[in-house]
Amino acid sequence: MTARILVVDDIEANRRLLQAKLEAQYHTVLMAENGPQALEVAQRENPEIILLDVMMPGMDGYEVCQRLKADPTTSYIPVVMVTALSEMEDRVKGLAAGAEDFLTKPVDDFLLNSRITALMRYNTVASELRQREASGIRSGAMEELNRDEVDRPSRIFIVDDDARSSGRLANTLRAQGHKATTLMEAGDMGELATERVDVLILSLFARSFDPLKLIAHFKMNPVTRSISVILICDPHDKAKALRGLEIGASDMITIPIDRQELAARIRTQTRRTRYIDILRQRVDRGLELSVIDQLTGLHNRRYMNGQLEQFMQRAARGNQPLSLMMTDIDHFKAVNDTHGHQAGDDVLREIGKRLRANVRPTDVVCRTGGEEFVVLMPNTPGDLACAAAERIRKAVAAEEFPVLGGSQNLRITVSAGVSTLQGAGDTTDDLMHRADTALYQAKTGGRNRVESIAA
Ligand SMILES: [Mg+2]
Repeated sequence: MTARILVVDDIEANRRLLQAKLEAQYHTVLMAENGPQALEVAQRENPEIILLDVMMPGMDGYEVCQRLKADPTTSYIPVVMVTALSEMEDRVKGLAAGAEDFLTKPVDDFLLNSRITALMRYNTVASELRQREASGIRSGAMEELNRDEVDRPSRIFIVDDDARSSGRLANTLRAQGHKATTLMEAGDMGELATERVDVLILSLFARSFDPLKLIAHFKMNPVTRSISVILICDPHDKAKALRGLEIGASDMITIPIDRQELAARIRTQTRRTRYIDILRQRVDRGLELSVIDQLTGLHNRRYMNGQLEQFMQRAARGNQPLSLMMTDIDHFKAVNDTHGHQAGDDVLREIGKRLRANVRPTDVVCRTGGEEFVVLMPNTPGDLACAAAERIRKAVAAEEFPVLGGSQNLRITVSAGVSTLQGAGDTTDDLMHRADTALYQAKTGGRNRVESIAA
């Protein structure tokens, strides 16, 4: 997996050095030598990761980071602050300012590659969801993500077989306002599945279980997959830490644990987990909305197409009948022209109600066009489907439709065409076409009637 990475540094030798390291891993490198240029390149080129020097004349790295995070077109790009070793407090300040990560100069190849791998893994999931969400926003199905939902205290689960060190870590985290549970307190891993956990802290020093195997297990399970895993590792055992990151851990912290660094890493990882969770929820809701007609609450054409296909396959497999009714409001244009679109909408909503009230729970009622509706009737032979259509026709014609808050009542009728599956070789298009032809016959035959195309 290779990335497009923007390197920002005021010293050319530093830029060249990072460029060489990144290009050796086949990444594409973009460069900027000051803050304003970095903002401009980030906007124009949309890099996947930004490596940002802290100390620069004019606009420093913190300000660049804040501006990147304040701009919705660049806020999602992970920023890695690159600081000198002497700037221990500054790196935490950078993370608090919104940066996702930091690296210290001189940049260690192993740390550089592992951070980039972890950020790209996050990017892959987040960008896919973001694209799906963007199409949902365009179609009006979803409101935009509220980032405040992301910043609440973290729920953390500590997995370490050393009771003393995990207890100490839990106390540190609680003192920082988080909700922390150790494996010893919980007794088992059950909490991970039943309660939402934001971050899992996993010790690579554990002896009673294989921590790497555990990571693989978490990443396989759909319930725990999105939880961020932070590894506690030995600074002298890079190979094991790297293996953990490859398997799916999001980040790591070396012993002895620096409290400020821990706090910043927890915050970043919690954001990642919640960001992905929220996007997932939005996408799920968006999918639901995308199959419902907003005016009538009935299913839409898109949903009908999928359902009809499924019903056809099931009918063919079980040798069962399947019928379909297509119905259309008579002279609907006149309702809109004479009484206005508000009245027209009232009629459509009332039709939706009467359709639903006169079908079986197993039938699927859809609004497939302006004033056109389709009822899918699984396991229903033609004669019963015609009887159902006739019942619906009567239910519409029997009582006037109240519109505009009950100030007027309109006499409404519908015409309907019924078609039935005719054995193997019959397609959804054939079925729809026959229903359409029958509906046309009902219209030309005087409206307010049901026709069917006989087998
Ligand atoms: Mg500098």
